[in-house]
Amino acid sequence: MRMRKKLVAGNWKMHGSLAENAVLLAALKPALVGVNAVVCVPFPYLAQAQTILNGSSIAWGAQNLSEHNKGAFTGEVSASMLLDFGCSYVIVGHSERRSLYGESDGLVAAKYVAAQAAGLTPILCVGESLDERESGVTEAVVARQLDAVIKLAGVDSFAGAIVAYEPVWAIGTGKTASPEQAQAVHAFIRGKIAALDPDLAGQLIIQYGGSVKAANAAELMAQPDIDGGLIGGASLVADEFVAICQAAAK
Ligand code: PEP
Repeated sequence: MRMRKKLVAGNWKMHGSLAENAVLLAALKPALVGVNAVVCVPFPYLAQAQTILNGSSIAWGAQNLSEHNKGAFTGEVSASMLLDFGCSYVIVGHSERRSLYGESDGLVAAKYVAAQAAGLTPILCVGESLDERESGVTEAVVARQLDAVIKLAGVDSFAGAIVAYEPVWAIGTGKTASPEQAQAVHAFIRGKIAALDPDLAGQLIIQYGGSVKAANAAELMAQPDIDGGLIGGASLVADEFVAICQAAAK
């Protein structure tokens, strides 16, 4: 029997405006009562998310953070600043951060540690590129990304954390991993953690991300090791996001 409660997180990326967000959040709030959901919004909109979502079933978080606590780091945002705006979650190591902003496995691990040290739940993104999948190194890549965190923070740091498996070739491309492809990597991730701590592995929430939409959510969420989703494009469309959350809640 699955002990884990599925969680769906929306990654708004660099989308939205005060006016658009107000409309989207007003639609999500009543539709997601009692559902386990999070929206990860751009930094400037955290205050708005806090004001609108406070007291609702929807948690909010950020899409990135600094590995530092404070100091001369122009343009950066610390974990404690996110806490000031009531964040519970923060995405770390999204593939766009890794590929477009050069975030290494080591830096992602440092951000993961900074998030946890402040009491935020990190959503640690891992996943392979198309080249890596086609070269047969998917598991090696995902293992390397997880090992960076295990090396810095230990396997115990996965207690209460979230891992999001996001094959890079499926993010924003409309190409979803098949439920079987996703399940295989999710089982690999859980097995890797289980080799170090079986109880913790059984509790670990592993989300799938990559072109999830209402139409394909149910079959993905039905896989035994898929515990929810990290949703990009479809999280900006209220009906889509609600339908995905409902598929996960079944
Ligand atoms: C993402 O932003 O993490 C993501 C999975 O995007 P999309 O759902 O649009 O593929």
